[in-house]
Amino acid sequence: MKINFNKNNDGLVPVIIQDDRTLQVLMLGYMNAEALEKTSKEKTVTFFSRSKNRLWTKGEESGNFLTVKSITTDCDHDTILIRAVPKNTVCHTGSFSCFGDKDPKGFLYELEATISQRIDEKAENSYTYALFQKGINKMAQKVGEEAVELVIEAKDNQDELFKNEAADLLYHYLILLKAKGMSIQDIEKILMDRSR
Ligand code: AMP
Ligand code: ZN
Ligand code: ZN
Ligand code: ZN
Repeated sequence: MKINFNKNNDGLVPVIIQDDRTLQVLMLGYMNAEALEKTSKEKTVTFFSRSKNRLWTKGEESGNFLTVKSITTDCDHDTILIRAVPKNTVCHTGSFSCFGDKDPKGFLYELEATISQRIDEKAENSYTYALFQKGINKMAQKVGEEAVELVIEAKDNQDELFKNEAADLLYHYLILLKAKGMSIQDIEKILMDRSR
């Protein structure tokens, strides 16, 4: 990877950390060449801390590590973008991200990953895995049932009930997608191509 570490004559390059699933921006740190090499090798984010003046593995005290999913650079190779999966919270203040709370926008992708994990790990005591085991017809039937419940609630003016049925439908729809070996992105691709 081509990276310009000497733009500021300090051997450091800014690194944006983005949640791999939701794309929420989590924090900004700096890396020198050694930090980048360690991060690439160990698949856990290690910065060069300007205040500690040493390599700093994010999570070394808190246990809140950042697991690396991809490393890319911007157009002129002076900024790194790392997509990672955070363990617990990211900010030392206790908030989810250094830029604020967890954003509901994008959570669908985190839920999709959780559903996938429950099924792949054959998780005991998991409603998701229990439904998956009942087979494709049962999963499709649940989507139909939740859709009907949503239709029923659409006729009333009970927003909370409507929202909850809308949530049930999305959740079961994600299970059905997983059972078909598909992802939200596959469907988004179709919708995006249609809107050209
Ligand atoms: P940690 O790396 O999470 O074990 O935290 C160790 C120390 O690094 C904390 O006490 C803070 O001083 C600092 N720190 C942790 N997380 C952040 C962050 N997101 N931004 C800036 N400093 C942090
Ligand atoms: Zn740049
Ligand atoms: Zn912070
Ligand atoms: Zn329902």
